[in-house]
Amino acid sequence: MFDTSISYVGESIEQVSEERSQSIDVPEQGLSSDEAIITIEKGYQYGNMQKGLPSGDFADVGEKVVFLHRDGAGGRAYQIDKKTLEVLPFCNDATCLHDGGACKSYQIEANLEQYRGELYAAKLVIDETRPFYKIIKYDGVDFEPVLSEGVSGFFHANGALYVVSPDDALVRVNLDGTELQILIDEFDGHWCTVFGDYLYGSTWSEVFRVNLNSSDLKKEILATTPNGMVTDGEHLYYFDKDDKVIRLDMDGSNEVTVIEEGVPLVGFAFDEQNLYYRCLAGPGSYMEDGDCYSLYKMDKTTMESIKIAELPYCIMGIYTACDYDRIFVACQDRSVAPDEYEGYRYHYYAVSVDGTGYEELQLPNY
Ligand SMILES: [Zn+2]
Repeated sequence: MFDTSISYVGESIEQVSEERSQSIDVPEQGLSSDEAIITIEKGYQYGNMQKGLPSGDFADVGEKVVFLHRDGAGGRAYQIDKKTLEVLPFCNDATCLHDGGACKSYQIEANLEQYRGELYAAKLVIDETRPFYKIIKYDGVDFEPVLSEGVSGFFHANGALYVVSPDDALVRVNLDGTELQILIDEFDGHWCTVFGDYLYGSTWSEVFRVNLNSSDLKKEILATTPNGMVTDGEHLYYFDKDDKVIRLDMDGSNEVTVIEEGVPLVGFAFDEQNLYYRCLAGPGSYMEDGDCYSLYKMDKTTMESIKIAELPYCIMGIYTACDYDRIFVACQDRSVAPDEYEGYRYHYYAVSVDGTGYEELQLPNY
């Protein structure tokens, strides 16, 4: 049950619980149900937004892509100029010493999201009892909290902010943090999104949808999988027990195996026209087994697949950006043992989607 000691900005839990027993409407600040978004929104962050905490490390914000580089000290945020591929510290402040605390580059912990032009992220807060996340929003100068209380996860979709509370309730609020509604008391979904009337998500055993306009908000199981699912609003893509990529229509029908070779979830992304992926060596293989260097592109219409790059290190993350002729790829050098503090060393690449080449991003030292 929702912990009643937690109160969100502008509204008490008691009020919300009463409202919930009446009806669940599309939030006022979002769209009316007639206009509810059925397919993916222009500028939406594709699968990156569905891969919430603790992934979701790239966000496409206008002319820039903001990303989080992780090392032993935690996360450091950078910004990439999409035209020049120049990489700068996120704070982009020549007077900043980038020594933590005041530097904005160190305030993001995870779950970067761009929604309707705004940058959101999760900030880690540690109090006397346990660490928790706060949702923060960048106003162009600084980060401001969106909700006063902690969350264990969040995502934006369909004109609203969806939050998983620390005690696992799924809550919907307006983008500005007002008008809180508890949707589901005990929610175990991850990598969720909402299109039209339906919430789509997965657990470590199933792919499901929930009709948010129904009175009982029950899960409808669409497939069983231990490996997760992402959706582009036209299809659901899930990873079966052998890591094959299976495509379903949004109601769970029309099952098609689109990639026979195993694909790790970290090595899969999409945009309007294409799927991007790397392969595993086979069922049960380790991430670094086999050809983890080749990056493939599959046209969603023709289902033809071509190799667009062979990178120097093992592909461990693929991120698409809007209206852009490159995708970003995070690779790990897994040929050498991880550093005790920094783990495996990351390299980042901007890969041309037409297969004409790639460029390594040069991260400034700070
Ligand atoms: Zn700084």
